[in-house]
Amino acid sequence: MRFLVVDDFDTMVRIIKNVLGELGHNDVVTARNGEQAYQILTKDKIDFIISDWNMPVMTGIELLKKVKATPAMANIPFLMVTAEAEKDNIVEAIQAKVDQYILKPFNPEMLAQKIACALHKKNA
Ligand SMILES: [Mg+2]
Repeated sequence: MRFLVVDDFDTMVRIIKNVLGELGHNDVVTARNGEQAYQILTKDKIDFIISDWNMPVMTGIELLKKVKATPAMANIPFLMVTAEAEKDNIVEAIQAKVDQYILKPFNPEMLAQKIACALHKKNA
């Protein structure tokens, strides 16, 4: 299973990659913004997307809307990572059919649980 981790903040990419590794997921592709992520999605087989909200060039919500509007990508589980201050944005993400969301800061157990929930929903 290949994960795509999208964040403009290198430290956050590293944290998420570490948690994925702890969960046994070592196939991880990374991108620094939504545009880069979308390019990867057009070429690579991605099974799960974890994306930050606030990024330059193309934000997480823009990426989410683009992914859900692309039939070949619409079914990939999408987990949005948002800061506490962006909490109100969650409504917009839900309307854009986000699969799961998580507020920063989060611990590895929380992230693991959100990933499991998103996968379970897809397989149900
Ligand atoms: Mg950011």
